Amino acid sequence: MTAMYDVIIVGSGPSGLTAAIYATRADLKVLVIAGLKWGGQLQLTTEVENFPGFPSGIQGPELMMAMRKQAEKFGAQFVDANMDPTDFTTQSGGPFTVTVESKQYTGKALLIATGADAKTLGVVGEKELTGRGISYCATCDGAFFRNKKIIVVGGGDSAMEEANFLTNFADVILMHRRDSFRASQIMQDRVKQNPKITIMYNSQIAEVIGTNKVEKVKVQNTQTKEITEMPIDGIFVAIGHTPNTSIFKGVELTEKGYVRAQNGTRTNIEGIFVSGDVEDDRYQQAITAAGFGCMAALDIEKYLVEKK
Ligand code: NAP
Repeated sequence: MTAMYDVIIVGSGPSGLTAAIYATRADLKVLVIAGLKWGGQLQLTTEVENFPGFPSGIQGPELMMAMRKQAEKFGAQFVDANMDPTDFTTQSGGPFTVTVESKQYTGKALLIATGADAKTLGVVGEKELTGRGISYCATCDGAFFRNKKIIVVGGGDSAMEEANFLTNFADVILMHRRDSFRASQIMQDRVKQNPKITIMYNSQIAEVIGTNKVEKVKVQNTQTKEITEMPIDGIFVAIGHTPNTSIFKGVELTEKGYVRAQNGTRTNIEGIFVSGDVEDDRYQQAITAAGFGCMAALDIEKYLVEKK
C-alpha cells in the first residue's frame, strides 16, 4: 500500500521548500523527500546577507529551518532520507512511484529540486583538509582568512567573483589551469585591475599538504609539468558544480548535465517538473532557486487542475 500525494518534491533546499510552501498553500498534498542531509547548500553556509528580508543577515541553517517550518505549518510532510534511483522513462503522465528506505510513495506530479554540489579537485589531501583550510564557498569562509595567504582555483565567473570578494580579507593568488579565463570579460577585467590579485596561469594544484590544516600545496605547471611547492594557508575551490541528477533515469539533461526545463519548469516527462540549481547552471543563488521553486509549484498546480 503506497501513500498517494498530489506532488512529491525531491530535495529540500530553498527551491524545494519554496515549492512546498506554495503547493501546500494551494491545498495540495505534499511530500518532501528531503534527503539524509536536508536543507541543501545553505546548511553549509554561515552568514547569508543577500536574501531579501534579513537586513542584519541570517545564518544559512537558520534560514533553512525557517523555510521548513513554514512548509510544515501548511501541511507538507517530510521524509529525511534519500530516494532510490528510479527510471521514469515509461512513467510519462504519472502517477510516479518512488522508494525511500524500502517504503513506497506515489505522487500525481513530481518535482526535481535536488540542487547541485560544488566540484572537488580530486587531489591528494583535499578530503582530509576540507574545512581545515580548503573551502568551496568564499562568502561563507572568507572572513576566517584575514591577512592569510590564499589561492582561488578556477577560471570561470565564480572564481573571478570569489577572488575579488576575498581581497576584502587578504591578497589572493588566482590559479587557473589554462592560459586564458573562461569567465565573462567584465569579471576578468575586474580581477585583472585588482592589485590584490596575482594570476597564475597554466597551473594546477597537484597535492595539498598539512597536518590538521593546510600548510602547503604542490603546484604543477600544466605546460612544463614541473612541480613546485608553495606555502599557503587557504584554498578556495571554485571550479563549478555538479547537478544532482543521477537518481532520475529517463529525465532529459542538457549538454552540461543539468535537467533540461521546457515550457517553464516542465521536463521531457509529463508530470515531472524541475526547479533550482539542478536546472540552473547560470544564477545559482538561494533567491533564484526559491523563485524557481515558486514557479514550479504554480506550474504543478495548473497541471493537476488541467489533468482533472
Ligand atoms: P564554470 O563556468 O564551469 O567554470 C569552471 C572553471 O573551473 C573553468 O575555468 C574550468 O577550467 C575550471 N576547472 C574545472 N574543473 C577543474 C579542475 N578539476 N581543476 C582545475 N580547474 C578546473 O563554473 P562557474 O565559474 O562556477 O560558473 C557556473 C555558471 O554560473 C556560469 O554560467 C557562470 O557564468 C555563472 N556565474 C555567473 C556569475 C555572475 O555573473 N556574477 C557568478 C558566478 C557564476 P577550464 O576553463 O579550463 O575548463
